[in-house]
Amino acid sequence: MNVDIRIHGGTVHLPWGESEVDVLIDGERIGGFVDPDTHLEVKETLEAKGLHVLPGLVDLHAHSRTPGLTHKEDFRTLSHAAAAGGITTIVDMPNVEPPTDSVRLFEQKREIAAQDCIVDWGHFVSGSQPDRVRDLATAGVTGFKIFMVGGGYPHDDRIAVSSNAQLFRAMRSIAPTGLPCLVHPFDQALFNMFTEEALAVGRPPNHVTRADIYAGIDIIWRSAVATLLEFQEETDVRLHLLHTHAAGSLRRIRDAKARGVRVTAAIDPKYFHLTQDDLERLGPRAYSGAAVTKNPERLALIWRCLKDGTIDTIDSDHGPHTLEEVEIARVDAWKAQLGSPQYDELLSLMLTDVNAGLIDLSSIVRLMCENPARLIGRYPQKGAIAVGSDADLVLIDLNASRVARDEDVISKVHWTPYAGRTLVGLPVTTIRRGQVIARNRTITAPAGSGRYLEGRALTWADPAPGRFGGLALQPRPDIGSQQPQR
Ligand SMILES: [Zn+2]
Repeated sequence: MNVDIRIHGGTVHLPWGESEVDVLIDGERIGGFVDPDTHLEVKETLEAKGLHVLPGLVDLHAHSRTPGLTHKEDFRTLSHAAAAGGITTIVDMPNVEPPTDSVRLFEQKREIAAQDCIVDWGHFVSGSQPDRVRDLATAGVTGFKIFMVGGGYPHDDRIAVSSNAQLFRAMRSIAPTGLPCLVHPFDQALFNMFTEEALAVGRPPNHVTRADIYAGIDIIWRSAVATLLEFQEETDVRLHLLHTHAAGSLRRIRDAKARGVRVTAAIDPKYFHLTQDDLERLGPRAYSGAAVTKNPERLALIWRCLKDGTIDTIDSDHGPHTLEEVEIARVDAWKAQLGSPQYDELLSLMLTDVNAGLIDLSSIVRLMCENPARLIGRYPQKGAIAVGSDADLVLIDLNASRVARDEDVISKVHWTPYAGRTLVGLPVTTIRRGQVIARNRTITAPAGSGRYLEGRALTWADPAPGRFGGLALQPRPDIGSQQPQR
């Protein structure tokens, strides 16, 4: 074996647990492991003493803002922030301008990303046009995203589904592709009703009121999740639920999994990390803080669901807008563009939780590396440190800390909802397919060095307790012909 890089002296998170071994990288892949004392001729040694070596993170919830909204983000700044944050694979969302809902627009976006992206990437396209789903799958999309939420950008009414019939048709058309169907569950009509009621009793239309309704009212999410679970049972689509922070949603997902419903779920950390204090101190940038964190029972349930397999993945919902666009929410949150950049802090935010004893590192690997890689049919190519896997790695220092500051943010909008927060546990070096792409937040990879990841058709295998929320995914050869083998 040719050894290009030896990672020496670290604690390595292998699929079966932690081990004090040296990782040997051969070209783009992991070539093997040796005892730290073994003498070996290698081209380069990376010293990892005192560091943990994790698989590079796989994030399935990036808002690239490209094309059309490149004043907020582009694939260069997006992938730079990802690389600095220990993320080596990203998949982005279709709510760009124009929304990615056709083969032509998908291919256009793919070409733009190919010029700039330094991490490996995929595209989720809109699944709201049933008659285009088959062609999109054949064109190699990574999966489909459905927004049940509308009301105006970033929840673009052009790609929002607004009726159960439309939702059902979309899910039924996506099911035979074997590709994941990600859904933002939301009952827009209920949200509109609660909005009218809040404004009628004189609440100001600002970010605090909107956050209380949007993230705070359980039934807006729970009723949508209940419908989606019913439609999954009817269509057998590979349903992946996003934003599962409502207690009622989580209980329904847990019950559904227990009776064998084929569903996976993601949560994004802003909901259970941003607090009332953040919302008051920082204003709209800390949207939608408080709703979850001021309810200790709801918060405890989220942590329990992260441990017991109810929640399968932690995703970023990296959704940058300029601070000016977000600040409008102080006056009218229904006209503002709400969302926040997350890539710069995502991993450190979760490592801070590890240091606080809220979660362990092996759960971080399961929720942020292994399971998202499985969801896009890329495990163990991605999300694992194993012989033959892509050499996607992040070296982390659990003891190092920094204070999150706007001026350090690599994402194009240069602000963070976590400003002023001390983060304990930092990514030190990020490696993508054997190439060091970031070192202490300095980018070392050329534009366009990332590679596109085509979607993989998968089917659910028989329930296997303990695996991926009680379910296992396996390749689906009958419809996999459009999916080239690597
Ligand atoms: Zn999102």
